[in-house]
Amino acid sequence: NRSEITCIGCGVTIQTDDPKQIGYAPPSSLGKESVICQRCFRLKHYNEVQDVSLTDDDFLKILNGLSEVDGLIVKIVDIFDFNGSWLPGLHRFVGKNPILLIGNKEDLLPKSVKRSKLIQWMKHEAKQLGLQPIDVLLVSATKGSSIDEAIDTIEHYRNGKDVYVVGCTNVGKSTFINRIIKNVAGEDDVITTSHFPGTTLDMIEIPLDDGSALVDTPGIINHHQMAHFVDKKDLKLITPKKEIKPMVFQLNEGQTLFFGGLARLDYMSGGRRSLICYVSNELKIHRTKMENAESLYKKHVGELLQPPRKNDLEEFPPLVRHEFSLKQGKTDIVFSGLGWVTINDPGAVVAAYVPKGVSVLTRPSLI
Ligand code: GDP
Repeated sequence: NRSEITCIGCGVTIQTDDPKQIGYAPPSSLGKESVICQRCFRLKHYNEVQDVSLTDDDFLKILNGLSEVDGLIVKIVDIFDFNGSWLPGLHRFVGKNPILLIGNKEDLLPKSVKRSKLIQWMKHEAKQLGLQPIDVLLVSATKGSSIDEAIDTIEHYRNGKDVYVVGCTNVGKSTFINRIIKNVAGEDDVITTSHFPGTTLDMIEIPLDDGSALVDTPGIINHHQMAHFVDKKDLKLITPKKEIKPMVFQLNEGQTLFFGGLARLDYMSGGRRSLICYVSNELKIHRTKMENAESLYKKHVGELLQPPRKNDLEEFPPLVRHEFSLKQGKTDIVFSGLGWVTINDPGAVVAAYVPKGVSVLTRPSLI
């Protein structure tokens, strides 16, 4: 009976159908006496964690599980998709455990973005969303910046207890943990997986020196992310790979910008002024007259205005309009998962359009 085979590393039920889902092992491994899932296999043999994703039911199981542990929760978010990669409700499940909030992908920000301002904003936004982290950090898991600071901070707050790393898919959780493993253990030390006693959480445990563990939880799928509305190739396109180069548009009242076919910004009133766009350099921005925008979109979404592609249109949610009257100067209009647009002078009225479910918000400019 297949359903009774569990991984000797993390205790997850083994499946052989989908390598991207948790518990995957190749069919050939089923004959063996003890079966290890691919995620634990990679950790054991290559000192690398692999990201796998989780269904909504499993998500609830994980959250519930966290209320029973005693340790430090490290929550990773993608600073380029802060609201999209937020795990809503986490604060209700973690009990008394402290949460350290880490914003990853710091390397994508232009140099002109003040790191301290972003951290202030993250603290403020976290509070709005019901979370009071004990500390907030900015790191780049790929470039390695501030990773040592993150390790020291985790060491400081964990107080000899276990560390639970949570995050939704694509925030860079695996890259972050792999970085930590390399920095802490060095390339040569073999980190072994050990069974998490009585787990129903399918977490992998990475032993720390003092007998505690760094526990990796599977990535949680956040259905509201822009990332889920585009195909793999387009996800690469909308995700900046290196420092974003701002693009400046001089707009008159009544002009519209399209960001591919994924988002739209109507500049309604406020006189002629410049809008500074911070999005992936590969995402095409089209300017048009506001009065033509609707029909242009209907006609050309999936072609001139892409992503999304033609094939994705059936499942692509309609764009929803959100109007903002920007009373303060120096404001960012943030399109979760895409980037943001900065307007320097006060008094502009704009309408931002994003796919239904994706968030759009304003914040004091980070620059
Ligand atoms: P996970 O699903 O959270 O485990 O995420 P992964 O570690 O697989 O990373 C998801 C994507 O984000 C990959 O394409 C990574 O290369 C990228 N990524 C991870 N960390 C960083 C980072 O610090 N900076 C940048 N620019 N990209 C990152």
